[in-house]
Amino acid sequence: MIATLLAVTVAAVPVPADAHRVAVKISSWGPRPAASERERRAHLLIGRVFRRAGLRVGVQDFRVPGGRRSRNVIGVFDTPRSCLRIVMAHADSTANAPGANDNASGLGVLAELAPRLKAIDPGCDVWLVATGAEERVYTGSPDHLGALALARLVKERDLASRLRYALSLDEVGRDRPFWLRSPVSGPRPRVESALLTAASRVGVPVSWVRDESTGNSDHREFELLGLPAAKLGVGAGGEPCRHNPCDRPSRLDPKSLVLARRMTAEALRAR
Ligand SMILES: [Zn+2]
Repeated sequence: MIATLLAVTVAAVPVPADAHRVAVKISSWGPRPAASERERRAHLLIGRVFRRAGLRVGVQDFRVPGGRRSRNVIGVFDTPRSCLRIVMAHADSTANAPGANDNASGLGVLAELAPRLKAIDPGCDVWLVATGAEERVYTGSPDHLGALALARLVKERDLASRLRYALSLDEVGRDRPFWLRSPVSGPRPRVESALLTAASRVGVPVSWVRDESTGNSDHREFELLGLPAAKLGVGAGGEPCRHNPCDRPSRLDPKSLVLARRMTAEALRAR
């Protein structure tokens, strides 16, 4: 009887998604360019993690050049409050790179956040989004296509005034301190300052550095449409293996992933 009870108890406790494990798994499949089978596989995995975590999951399908299709997988966590925060990470890589830091790392953090949202008790509604077709060097598009579709969705649904920010997690798997990047002239109280405050509250070293131009991650399309957004990613050391075959799973640093998750969780908790 005791053995049965124990078995039932163990089975009922969901295994928490581990950012490092998820990032290693996805990047071990090899390159996953936009609209490829491997990009789809990464989206399916994240969708399963979101569903298992009890999030409402939606798929936003969109076209990429060449007539193929990619998608954004959106996991929704509702609260009684009307404000909204988006945390997104692109699922695709370039055609030659296994994309471990760029950006299985961001997907890993999304996967680790999903089952924790209830305990985090977020101060606003949360959308966790695995975007598609970010890599412009591969799609040939001037825009990060998943982010463009997502930012348009926010506007179409009249959520613009409710959106506090959309945060892109992109290359959070090594090289700390992180940089928080956005194209604005200085930190905004409810965007960059709120994120930096959250980081310092949990002891995660982050500095805000203005984007050189309009930005090189999914936050770009939000800002271009007048929606507040920023990117958390690699720091001063840069990512020498970006878009390169050496961006392998073995380079991922579990500690970096834990810090990125801790900072994001604290930012979502803020009222
Ligand atoms: Zn990236």
